Order: sequence, then C-alpha cells, then structure tokens
Amino acid sequence: MRIAILKERAAGESRVAATPETVKKFIALGASVAIEEGAGIGAAIADAAYAEAGAAVLPGPAASRDADIVLAVQAPDPALLAGARPGALVAATFDPFGARDQVEAYAAAGLEALAMEFMPRITRAQSMDVLSSQSNLAGYKAVIAAADLYGRAFPMMMTAAGTVQAARVFVMGVGVAGLQAIATARRLGAQVSATDVRSATREQIQSLGAKPVFVESVAGIEGEGSGGYATEMSEDYQKAQAELVSAHIARQDIVITTALIPGRAAPRLVTDAQIATMRRGSVIFDLAVAQGDGTGGNVEGSMADQVVERHGVKIMGFANTAGHLAADASALYSRNLYNFLSAFWDKEGGRPVLDEEIGNAVRLTQNGAVVNPRLEAAPA
Ligand code: NAD
Repeated sequence: MRIAILKERAAGESRVAATPETVKKFIALGASVAIEEGAGIGAAIADAAYAEAGAAVLPGPAASRDADIVLAVQAPDPALLAGARPGALVAATFDPFGARDQVEAYAAAGLEALAMEFMPRITRAQSMDVLSSQSNLAGYKAVIAAADLYGRAFPMMMTAAGTVQAARVFVMGVGVAGLQAIATARRLGAQVSATDVRSATREQIQSLGAKPVFVESVAGIEGEGSGGYATEMSEDYQKAQAELVSAHIARQDIVITTALIPGRAAPRLVTDAQIATMRRGSVIFDLAVAQGDGTGGNVEGSMADQVVERHGVKIMGFANTAGHLAADASALYSRNLYNFLSAFWDKEGGRPVLDEEIGNAVRLTQNGAVVNPRLEAAPA
C-alpha cells in the first residue's frame, strides 16, 4: 500500500496533509509513504524530517506514481495523479458543492474521491473531522487578527494615566469556530457576547463566561437541522434576529462572524446599514468571507484577504484562515486523516476498508461515477 502526498498547489495554501508523525504511523501500519519535495515548507516541516520519518521524498507529481492512497488538504487537479493506481483513494477536501466540475473529473479519472468535509458529525468520527479541527484554529486566529487591527486594547487596564475600557466583542455563529473565538476573546480580557440560530448554544455561550444574545419572540424555531448543522431560517426569524442584532451591534467594538450553511452561500448577518451604526475604529472579522455570494460573506462588502473600510469600520477576513496557522493546522489535519484511515485499516488486506455509514457519507466518486447522495440531491 503506497501513500502519496503532493505539495499543495492552490494559491495561498500553506498546509500539508501529512507530518513526520503521521508518516511514521502509516509506516507502522505497513504502508510505504512518498512525499513531494517541499510539501511541508509552508508548515515549517523540512524534507529531511519526512525522510527521517521514513518517507521517500521525490520531486514533482512523480511522488504520486503507483499510489494507492493520495492525501491532500485541497484536492489536486486529477491530471496530477495520472500515475496513481486505478481506483486510488484520494482523501482531501473537495468543496463538493462549489467545485462540482472537479468532482466529475475525479469520476472520469477513475479515482475514488473521499471528501473530508462530508465526515458525519457523529461521536466516533470526531477525531476524523477536519472541519472541526480547522474551524477551531480559525476561530482563534480571527480574534487575534481582529485584535491586531483594532487600534485599542482588549482588556480593561487601570493605569496611572487613566483607565482603558475593555473591548466589547460580539461573536455571531457559535459552532466550533465561534466557541473558540469566544474563549480567545475572553482570554484577552474582552467583554464577550454571542448569538446563534441554534438555541442549544445559549448554555455553551454562558459556560464560557459570555453573554447570550437571542431572539425570544419568534415561536417554534429551533434552527437545528441534521447533524447539528444550522438550517436556513424563516423570513420572520431573520427579521427578528436582525432587529435584535442591529441594536446590539451598534454598541460593539469587534464583531466576529462565523455562520455557515452547508451547500449554500453564507447567510448575510451584518449589513452596510448596521456597519454604519458602529463606532469608528471598530473591526469586523468575517470568517465566512470565502463562502460569500460575491457581495461579501456574513458581512456585506467583506473581501477575502483585504481590509475594507466602511463608515470608519475595518472589515476583514481570510480566504484560508486555518492556513494562517499552517503548522498547527497541518498537524491536526494530518491526524484527522490518519485517524480516519487507520480506523478502517484491514490488517490482512493492508488497506483501509470503509464502513457503510462513514464510507457512503464521504465517498464522492467510485468506479467512474459520482456516487454521493448529497450531490445527487444537488445536481451539477
Ligand atoms: P458551521 O460551521 O456549520 O456554522 C457555524 C455556526 O453558525 C453554527 O453554530 C450555526 O448554527 C451558526 N449559524 C448558521 N446560520 C446562522 C445565522 N443566520 N445566524 C447566526 N448563526 C448562524 O458549524 P460547526 O462549527 O460545523 O458546528 C455545527 C454543530 O455541529 C455544532 O453544534 C457542533 O458542536 C457540532 N459538531 C459535532 C461534531 C461531532 O459530533 N462529530 C463535530 C463538529 C461539530
């Protein structure tokens, strides 16, 4: 069983899908590992460290020759994998709804695409869940980046020259990234509040020492769909939430938005009119900037990898937030992949054999066809 890791080719992608630690572990399972030269540079891992762990370090896409399994952060163009074995497994993120053409190309190439972002949200798959591991780091980085751009301090400081007020931070969307954003802002000494459409998050917000901000007046709405994901909200709910949030936003110094709905453009949480009510010098970090509809992500007017100034408020967001913490993001991502493949490792066959629940959830293509039910429901 030959496992290959190529250097990531997507613009701005600094992560890598294996570390010397996971290379060693795959070798211990009986696999051989080949990695492309320079694959770990963005994550501060030298070729020599991979070689020491037992990997063959090879130049260019030749590293994937004869591969049975290819690991990647962002799925490579299948043309790069022409030398891989027929039916090779490719475990990576595929952006299956957004990059549908590439999914078709994987089917045509006879590769078996395994989309890590389709990992089911079930207890036994938690250690395999790349969305969680990357969102957690992204939530942290969003607060650090916003704090850096903010021209004031986060904690209250009582000094001989007078008192500096604590920053007010509002986190919108309390999934994995939002919870980490709350915790990080609290550690920096800010006064933190948060909201979500899922009422189950209220207690989680409180347990982190932050204030929940929730619509109370719209009955019968829980906002939770399958697998703990948010569903799209009714118009009534959105209106009530927008009113409550508008009043709250006007008093905030920092807003961090993290709301996503799988397979759809990110919901708009902050409009230009709301931004205009914030005090000058405030900062908004839009974690959903890359999932936007062309006019911003969660925040109207946000642009990936740029600081946009509107009404004296700075709006920012990264196309690849976890990639700004490439070493940690790579370490966790790589462990997610190892945990996934090793959990299904068939010792006799020397290869992973996925079970139905997880296999059917993550498998996009097999035997030349697109096979995933979520993609059938959303045709190309
Ligand atoms: P996500 O990235 O899909 O969305 C981020 C948050 O935004 C969610 O909390 C969502 O409810 C919220 N949101 C969506 N629309 C919104 C709106 N209009 N206004 C305000 N908030 C909005 O979420 P996630 O981080 O993937 O987590 C989703 C849930 O899944 C959480 O409950 C999490 O704990 C759970 N989870 C479970 C597992 C597991 O059991 N294996 C793993 C990861 C996450």
